[in-house]
Amino acid sequence: MPAKAKLILFDLDGTLYLDGVPYPGAIQLIERLRKSDMEYCFVTNNSSIATSDYCEKLRRIGFPLEPRNVVSSGDAAVMMLNALGVGHRLFILGTNRFRGWMEGQGFQHTEVNPDALLIAFDKELTYEKLTIATQLVLKGVPVYATHPDPVCPPGLPDAGMLIEYIKAARPGVVIQGIAGKPHKWLCRVLQERFGVLPEEMVMVGDRVGTDLAFACNNGMRSMLVRNGEPMPPLGDFQPTVVVPRINQMLDEFWPRNLGW
Ligand SMILES: [Mg+2]
Repeated sequence: MPAKAKLILFDLDGTLYLDGVPYPGAIQLIERLRKSDMEYCFVTNNSSIATSDYCEKLRRIGFPLEPRNVVSSGDAAVMMLNALGVGHRLFILGTNRFRGWMEGQGFQHTEVNPDALLIAFDKELTYEKLTIATQLVLKGVPVYATHPDPVCPPGLPDAGMLIEYIKAARPGVVIQGIAGKPHKWLCRVLQERFGVLPEEMVMVGDRVGTDLAFACNNGMRSMLVRNGEPMPPLGDFQPTVVVPRINQMLDEFWPRNLGW
């Protein structure tokens, strides 16, 4: 008997909406979960804005939620940096909004002798910022990242590309920790916030390397949602079930109907 599903995790772009437009049935699905005995959480690797901004964005699109229903790679980075005892003085390759949000979480953004460099999704990247980051790496400052995605749809350079850039600064640069999907820190945030075990979580997403890998690495069940896209190559990461379209989670793929 599989563990009873208590927390349903949703990737956003490509799973519940595309370019800000919800797929048919997506909003009804969240409304139904809200009335059920299961909890739900939107899980995003996007660290270009604050988690609270994401909450507003999802409300505008039409999804009902409270702040606790969103977790980002930024939340996971806070958990990781605190758990690893990295220190609170960071140089953050990130947007002003994200830097401000991190300051609200007890960190200080500084270029003067920081404890670490934190790579995030920096949509305000400049040559000056890259120069400061490069000099810190050459001095041996440890490097962490909010998440590993190289490219954010539909083709924006994301944190993963900055990781490769920073690694090129000097041979042997090692990234000390990465927080978001598919890594464990995001799972720890969810365990702590909702008081559930990984085997009681179900990850619903459209990407193999992040969503399915997140579920597989952390011992969760997973649903691969195709939403009309061709079946991607799976490699090592097998989904528990494949859902052709997200609205089918309202009937044949409703977790209780699967015996979950
Ligand atoms: Mg996606």
